[in-house]
Amino acid sequence: MHAEAPTKRRILVIEDEAPIADMVMVNLQAEGYEVTTAASGTQGLERQQEQVADLIVLDLMLPDINGFEVLRTLRRRQDNVPVLVLTARTTKEDRILGLSYGADDYLGKPFSMLELIARIQAILRRSDPKAASPRILRSGPFRINFVTLSATRSKVDLNLSLREFRILEVLVTHPGRVHSRRELINMAWEPEARPSIRAVDVHIARLRKKLGDTTAVPVIQTLEREGYRWNLSVTSGNNP
Ligand code: CA
Repeated sequence: MHAEAPTKRRILVIEDEAPIADMVMVNLQAEGYEVTTAASGTQGLERQQEQVADLIVLDLMLPDINGFEVLRTLRRRQDNVPVLVLTARTTKEDRILGLSYGADDYLGKPFSMLELIARIQAILRRSDPKAASPRILRSGPFRINFVTLSATRSKVDLNLSLREFRILEVLVTHPGRVHSRRELINMAWEPEARPSIRAVDVHIARLRKKLGDTTAVPVIQTLEREGYRWNLSVTSGNNP
């Protein structure tokens, strides 16, 4: 059960740092998007003319012309493609400048893949009103709100930290699927973060406590040496 099923939309990623571009591409493809990448501003502008994207993820610091210039050129061409600006530069001035050049949103590095995906989905929903859907997922007594990044159990707020929410999000949107600790690190932490395997266990333990998870009827199941999964019987209504 996914929070939503995005239709196959095309995303152009303009980013010169190959590891980031690759990670963004792989994660967006896993979400069902068609992804093309460009390693420079000029290449990105060419790609967009060859094959129009539904959304552009644009890094500001590029080797040739910078992201602002790319954005300005797009708008000068009357290309109103939604643009999510991605950058290590997070000063207020950059943000204001980016938005004044016509960026739709702005995400500072380091960022989590889940946050990037959520922002992209939000922009695409705004640009396609008929695809609008409530961003609340129900699983047994749990309600997970992807707008407020919070969760409740039987209407009581669980007071999750952002990291706990990210982990919960990964598990609950793929009920029954086992996630290795490595996988959880890739999906719930920023790409630059290097948490230990042990840190995953610590966060899972805290999350379980907040969920009111018990060993008798586990909501998050542990599979020795394999990882964790959201108990499918929670989702199918067999409330713990
Ligand atoms: Ca860059």
